[in-house]
Amino acid sequence: MGKATGFLELERIEEGYEPAQSRVKHYKEFVIGLAEDQANKQAARCMDCGIPFCNNGCPVNNIIPDFNDLVYKNQWKAALDTLHSTNNFPEFTGRICPAPCEAACTLNFNDDAVGIKSIEHAIIDRGWKEGWVGPQLPAHKTGKKVAVVGSGPAGLAAAQQLARAGHEVTVFEKNDRIGGLLRYGIPDFKMEKTHIDRRVAQMQAEGVTFRTSVLVASLPSDTKVTNWAKETVSPERLKKDFDAVLLAGGSEQPRDLPVPGRDLQGVHFAMEFLPQQNKVNAGDALPQQIRADGKHVIVIGGGDTGSDCVGTSNRHGAKSVTQFELLPMPPEHEDKPMVWPYWPTKLRTSSSHEEGCTREFAIATKEFLGDKGRLTGLKSVHVEWRDGKMQEVPGTEKILPADLVLLAMGFVSPVGSVIEAFGVDKDNRGNAKSATEGEKSYYTNVPKVFAAGDMRRGQSLVVWAIREGRQAARSVDAFLMGASQLPR
Ligand SMILES: Cc1cc2nc3c(=O)[nH]c(=O)nc-3n(C[C@H](O)[C@H](O)[C@H](O)COP(=O)(O)OP(=O)(O)OC[C@H]3O[C@@H](n4cnc5c(N)ncnc54)[C@H](O)[C@@H]3O)c2cc1C
Ligand code: SF4
Repeated sequence: MGKATGFLELERIEEGYEPAQSRVKHYKEFVIGLAEDQANKQAARCMDCGIPFCNNGCPVNNIIPDFNDLVYKNQWKAALDTLHSTNNFPEFTGRICPAPCEAACTLNFNDDAVGIKSIEHAIIDRGWKEGWVGPQLPAHKTGKKVAVVGSGPAGLAAAQQLARAGHEVTVFEKNDRIGGLLRYGIPDFKMEKTHIDRRVAQMQAEGVTFRTSVLVASLPSDTKVTNWAKETVSPERLKKDFDAVLLAGGSEQPRDLPVPGRDLQGVHFAMEFLPQQNKVNAGDALPQQIRADGKHVIVIGGGDTGSDCVGTSNRHGAKSVTQFELLPMPPEHEDKPMVWPYWPTKLRTSSSHEEGCTREFAIATKEFLGDKGRLTGLKSVHVEWRDGKMQEVPGTEKILPADLVLLAMGFVSPVGSVIEAFGVDKDNRGNAKSATEGEKSYYTNVPKVFAAGDMRRGQSLVVWAIREGRQAARSVDAFLMGASQLPR
């Protein structure tokens, strides 16, 4: 364990942030990770409480008490090995995971949780700095070929596990760069893209082949389907050329807001806006970029994607940024004895909110207003919730100026076409249907076709995608070889 009395003597240390007024001038990461001695002290607070709820609260089941203890004892390399034994990409989760482990930490019951995420961040950053992270080549090759469709965290985790089990893995990605939403969606100021590039290089050295700008779909091969895909490959081809196919295409169908004025110029989905800034940051020229400079911006949707739109709009130099949430404002603090060790509903103020934003709760949009086809404003109304039903509050309609509206209300399902093209059954939410328990976990109804990540579970988190990718890899490996040594 950490220091026996550490949790009594030492306080939680938060990671530092570059001040808001300077960080909004750039798109680089601004979180200042813990120094070695700070991480060491933070790890000393771990109580080794006997039943590590944190380990269960973490979707990849990171062995948190063990790496805390190793950091406390300054055995960083061993801590890194422990972390990598359950998580292929701790530099992603150490930056952008909401840390359900900390909600579940026993110390969180009546004190501040151990800063588990900040320790994870410190371990992996030290690992890269010291040169401890390198390719892990398989002891032997199996001669089996696996296709992975989609290069988000689910596809990447699966591909790495399968390559390490000795299979020949090819990742097909319709975008021009690898990474899924890590690359195009999550802003660079939350996670710089060099972290993905390093892992891609590691995986290439481990034998993974990446094919970008290739859309897997049943379309004529010369169809230009997205801005970036240059080629298509049919499901039939993949099933013929590979011994197994894993679908990890994410959940990309955004929820729309079909109110009057939706077709006005200036109303966009968040996922039209955010990836463009990622591309510009990567050095691409985008003359038609959707920009927020000097505009009144209204972000509809109170979640993480909305918060990312707030941060990006402020970096563009928006005149004002307002974020709408349909639900009432949650309490500032959770009732810990009621909710621990589960993820609590409480007001979450992100670093993007701190950079400047008016947040409105229990508010709905009735209409987008415009002039000559261009958005000029928005008509809203306050709502209240009774017995789970939403009702407008009479007399609360108001008109707000708006030059740019960003719709960030979540994703309803994967884009159906790829699932349909493979003949894969869908669940009642439109996701690829497949169980996660039992002998046939991650199997779909189509022989040798598997599904994982947001494409299977619906819109979720990076850490869940990594878990599903790892578990699906084990299922695929067992299907190909009769048994698997890969961890679940
Ligand atoms: C703006 C935004 C911010 C987020 N922030 C966070 C956060 O801070 N923390 C967190 O934990 N989670 C966050 N999430 C959620 C998280 O990014 C996702 O849950 C996670 O990326 C899902 O991983 P995945 O591998 O299943 O799918 P994705 O990351 O969506 O990757 C799927 C990939 O498959 C490709 N693809 C799809 N269909 C095809 C096809 N037919 N042929 C070829 N390629 C195809 C897509 O182009 C995409 O690259 C955020 C999501 C969004 C939208
Ligand atoms: S991956 Fe997320 S839940 Fe798991 S230990 Fe890291 S921060 Fe906590």
